[in-house]
Amino acid sequence: MSLALDIRQKSADLWHMQRVKRLARQYLMLGPHVLIRVAELPCSDENCPEPVTQISLLGLDLTRQMIVVHRPLAEVSAADIAYAAQVRS
Ligand SMILES: [Zn+2]
Repeated sequence: MSLALDIRQKSADLWHMQRVKRLARQYLMLGPHVLIRVAELPCSDENCPEPVTQISLLGLDLTRQMIVVHRPLAEVSAADIAYAAQVRS
């Protein structure tokens, strides 16, 4: 991968991270103090080629919640987050 391509890929990843964070804050009805971390990880199922997107939430009371959307970061949609919000808890 060329350097320019690599940089473009990184900024795209960053953009999607911000996008997914925004969606999570909106659809999971998180307050401004909840820290959100978004990461794209390999699926724990070794037969599955697709990465998953992991959204971790850290509240002020230090409770941690983890939401996993079975989709690559760039493909996580508002509907995925809304669904995750429903099945959570
Ligand atoms: Zn998978």
